[in-house]
Amino acid sequence: MNKEEIIKKLKHLAREIEYHNNLYYNNDNPEISDAEYDQLKIENDKLEKKFPDLVLDNSPSKKVGAELISEFKKIEHKVPMLSLGNTFTKKDVENFIVKTKRFLQIDKSINLEFLAEPKIDGLSATLIYKNGKLDVGATRGDGRKGENITENIKSIEGIPLFLDGKFPSEIEIRGEIYMSNIEFEKLNASRLKNALPLFANPRNAAAGSVRQLDPKITASRKLGFFAYNWGVISENIGVTLLEIREFIKSIGFNLNHPVKLCSNLEQMIDFYKYIYENRSKLDFDIDGIVYKLNDISFYDRLGSTDHSPRYAVSHKFPAELGITTLRNVKFQVGRTGAITPVAELTPVTIGGVRIKRASLHNKDEIHRLGLVIGDTVSVKRAGDVIPQIVDYNHKLRPLKYENISFPEYCPSCGNPLKIDKNDPIIRCLNHMSCKEQIVGQLIHFVSRNAFNIEGLGEKQVIELFNTKLIREPADIFALALPDAIIKQEKILSLPGWGKLSVTNLINSINKSKIQTLDKILYSLGIRHLGLGTAKLITKNYTSSADLIDRILGLDEDNKYKLINELENINGIGEKVIISLISYFKENKLLFSNLLKYLTINESLFSADTSHYLYGKRIVFTGKFEHLSRTEIKNKSEKIGALISSQISNKTDFLVVGLKPGSKVNKAQQLSVNILTEKEFLSYF
Ligand code: AMP
Ligand code: ZN
Repeated sequence: MNKEEIIKKLKHLAREIEYHNNLYYNNDNPEISDAEYDQLKIENDKLEKKFPDLVLDNSPSKKVGAELISEFKKIEHKVPMLSLGNTFTKKDVENFIVKTKRFLQIDKSINLEFLAEPKIDGLSATLIYKNGKLDVGATRGDGRKGENITENIKSIEGIPLFLDGKFPSEIEIRGEIYMSNIEFEKLNASRLKNALPLFANPRNAAAGSVRQLDPKITASRKLGFFAYNWGVISENIGVTLLEIREFIKSIGFNLNHPVKLCSNLEQMIDFYKYIYENRSKLDFDIDGIVYKLNDISFYDRLGSTDHSPRYAVSHKFPAELGITTLRNVKFQVGRTGAITPVAELTPVTIGGVRIKRASLHNKDEIHRLGLVIGDTVSVKRAGDVIPQIVDYNHKLRPLKYENISFPEYCPSCGNPLKIDKNDPIIRCLNHMSCKEQIVGQLIHFVSRNAFNIEGLGEKQVIELFNTKLIREPADIFALALPDAIIKQEKILSLPGWGKLSVTNLINSINKSKIQTLDKILYSLGIRHLGLGTAKLITKNYTSSADLIDRILGLDEDNKYKLINELENINGIGEKVIISLISYFKENKLLFSNLLKYLTINESLFSADTSHYLYGKRIVFTGKFEHLSRTEIKNKSEKIGALISSQISNKTDFLVVGLKPGSKVNKAQQLSVNILTEKEFLSYF
């Protein structure tokens, strides 16, 4: 046997042993006898003894039990992992094609080739291979940063630990981790037997299985991986998507299938319909089709929005419907005071998920639908969206029924509700003392995208509020102070809390104290102030202190200063400004109380103004050798350079890579400084 054959054999044994480990350790039924299992281990040991320098990193001989990962580390994606734009109708798809051609300045009559692929309903993951060896695996996370799940995914069958054939020294493969329908059924059946909570669908099951701190649990769940995308690659691996897919397959991955190369809209829609009708024959869940340009030279030109790339779009399958009865309508008070009618339904299973409630949005929606209590209704569920009532069957309306009447007083605080003719949403304006609003704001404050305080979920926030331990965000931090023993003991005395959970809570509160100002503002739950908007505002000030001073100094006389500054920010509209001003009119004290506990992370302002490239206008052309286009752009933006796509006489530098375009001539004409990649990088 030569070296390659030995490695191959070792890899094979490692997988085989792993596979039987799972069957064995998790009390499923082992497929082989103990003796046969031992034989495999012996064979492995023998080879390893003979060739000690070929022992695999993940060798079964190194695994004594499974190591426990204490917490997932975060991994920054060099190329962001984005979502996809959605389309639902043929017209939407057509518009997408038109827009794409317009963007690329391609004549309408010319056909673009799109590859149509199934959109797998799983968990996306990225896998980085260095010199052919799996180095890191990570989840999509928030698109910029994911969780390091390397240990967990090593047991997944479709994820090779070593690449086959010829491959670039660094290659990042992206795709979907999924659970087959059969495995999903099996898993739920065994959970049912063991009185464990069931997974709602294969996607949740796959995600829940991967995000396990104990890789042994992941290994016990049979998962698969389909590759369909890539991140950073050190060499060119093809010029069309089809070519690249072939390459990805050649190095040992399974591709999502079936796919079809389409050269016009009709072919795309035919494929969509065909797969929709035949999807039950696939053994994995899909929620639509993805169309991607086949010519990847367009990808860089098209670029992406914050949310999704422009070279692809998904065509979602219609939502699934369920029929049930409307038992009652309850009125909830949201954190901004909006009163939302919530339909209580006789439980029904739609697409594998048990549905008990549906949103009715607002008063108009109830009118539009013309519902009464007792109606037989059809309920729609699409992906993660809150289920909605779409219709009722008038033939099945009971003879005696109850109308739905909208309350005149807040169901939480009893204040009269303000009905504004122009606003379909009815609100309780008692923001300062309406319990459901205050609690709702606190729940938002600790939630994942806000302060992300682990151990404080909805239930705990309500509990701590009811026992008067917290009333505003600052109180949460007061719980974790070293001298807050009495408060901590009070928590400890509540049902369900133990010493460990209290300690963990204190730790996670303390851990969350360092935040960027945009995050802090977003966490306050100000109406219309999303994370993006908060960031935009914050970045327009030179430091956190600047903006904070402005807010804390806000009074009737000088509010116009702030309004004026906000109005001058491109992308900030009137709604946000009004909401922000009126929020801080009432909540200045809440904000300053909170700030006392926090340390502001100034990274938003970290661009070093003394950096040579700070504020310089830069244009890139050609392919770069050392970094991808996105990386080089990100790097430049970080230090405060301004990137544009066209040369003008305002441009400071044109950075030229391999095979540059016509921009070089233009730069010369306009006497713009030209830098090579190397020269440019030397400024960092
Ligand atoms: P969404 O779930 O709406 O954010 O859609 C984007 C996600 O679809 C991506 O992040 C991937 O996880 C997933 N996806 C599944 N199949 C594909 C595919 N064939 N191509 C691209 N993305 C896919
Ligand atoms: Zn109220």
